Amino acid sequence: MTSALEQLRVHLATIRDLHDTVSLLAWDQRTYMPLGGANTRAEQMATVSRIAHELFTSGTTGHLLESINVADLPPDSDDARLIEVVGYDFEKASKLPAEFVARQSRLRGLANPAWQHARAESDFALFQPHLEAIMDLAREHAQLLGYTDHPYDALLNDYERGLTKDQVAALFEELKEGTLPLVRRIAAQGQTGRDACMHGDFPEDQQEAFGKLVASHFGYDWSRGRQDRTAHPFCINFGRNDVRITTRFNPQWLAPALFGTLHETGHALYEQGVKPELSRTPLERGASLGIHESQSRMWENLVGRSRPFWQFFYPKLQQHFPERLGQVDLDTFYRAINTVQPSFIRVEADEITYNLHILLRFELEVALIEGSLAVKDLPEAWNAKMQEYLGITPPDDAHGVLQDIHWSGGMLGYFPTYTLGNVLSVQFFNHAVAQHPQIVDEMARGEFGTLLGWLRDNIHQHGRKFLPNELVKRVTGRPMDAAPYVQYLQAKFGELY
Ligand code: ZN
Repeated sequence: MTSALEQLRVHLATIRDLHDTVSLLAWDQRTYMPLGGANTRAEQMATVSRIAHELFTSGTTGHLLESINVADLPPDSDDARLIEVVGYDFEKASKLPAEFVARQSRLRGLANPAWQHARAESDFALFQPHLEAIMDLAREHAQLLGYTDHPYDALLNDYERGLTKDQVAALFEELKEGTLPLVRRIAAQGQTGRDACMHGDFPEDQQEAFGKLVASHFGYDWSRGRQDRTAHPFCINFGRNDVRITTRFNPQWLAPALFGTLHETGHALYEQGVKPELSRTPLERGASLGIHESQSRMWENLVGRSRPFWQFFYPKLQQHFPERLGQVDLDTFYRAINTVQPSFIRVEADEITYNLHILLRFELEVALIEGSLAVKDLPEAWNAKMQEYLGITPPDDAHGVLQDIHWSGGMLGYFPTYTLGNVLSVQFFNHAVAQHPQIVDEMARGEFGTLLGWLRDNIHQHGRKFLPNELVKRVTGRPMDAAPYVQYLQAKFGELY
């Protein structure tokens, strides 16, 4: 007779296999699938997702959860935490009627192509009715999930458990105060062309070779991963032993693929580092989107845009692109990769102005959910905030309100996790360096073993075992704190400008 816990593990492993199968179908859809396969693939993914959802919300899960006495388990054990997380997921999933889930999936399925069309035509009116429906649905979603203070809290919680609108607002106040004067001072200098050396001929095969070289030095395990090409880069995994990254190359601009690869490798190192004991459970993944983004941002920015890193790698980069970079010195290159310039597109923004793009989206989302802003007035509100925070006005909606995929997928409350990731990347990194000062010297020698080891021990191995804010406290001894991040930005860019 197997125990209820054992039965639950088997049940969850089956569900996990189904979810991983959907991910594999998605990976193929976004890399190698011929266009003609699109409709059939959507059906296949919907079928497997539905079976997984039905299995999870079935009486079996609830019955097994009830038969396990968590009080009998050590509170920090993997089993106790597994029961807690599964109980939370189960309760949440059970709040959403099947009819709502189906309606949501259908609406999103229609909104995405409408958004793509609207963006291509740069015509918000084509997307407006879909976004209105998405907003109604988001409000309904918040009601179903439930909240104490504000409907936006329910939506945030879907991505970052425990986070509230007021916490995000307070975080942004601190960031605004700490960085807006710097952004304005830099903009007033009116410098242009600092990143000229990043543009020109950069053969794709050389870009790919260099990206792989850095990922290998970071510690990415190629026997449990691979890299492919895609239109919109992402990292995806089917368990800890198959964690894949994707990249898009621009043969005339070095930055996107270079930093994109470092970023996705950061996500991948996290997933590859989850301990084997958590395999095929819901804990075998990152703690939250914010914690995940702290990892990708750390490798991309704290490591990949730092001077010590390039002391080692710049001569190697020059060897890959002798014609374009042979005559460009390290200092010029370092200034180029850290250019600050208010721009229209979030994904191309520098380290400082990036958060202003997120702030704008956060404020608009809250207003839309509250109903104080109507969808039809959104483009105007967007442009007004761009002018207020970045001092520029988008030339059209494609470079403004239509640029991101998130809203067409119903992802409301997602954006703040990007800034959370930025803030946490510095809090974690500073803590690691305080405990192991040799990390910086190692970076200048192309070695990352101490940093990766620290991340593995403190963050990666635990997967989703701890709540995000609990993990931050366990690792750094205090809750999330924006001050180190603001100090980092002020020190780094104060020196550069
Ligand atoms: Zn990311």
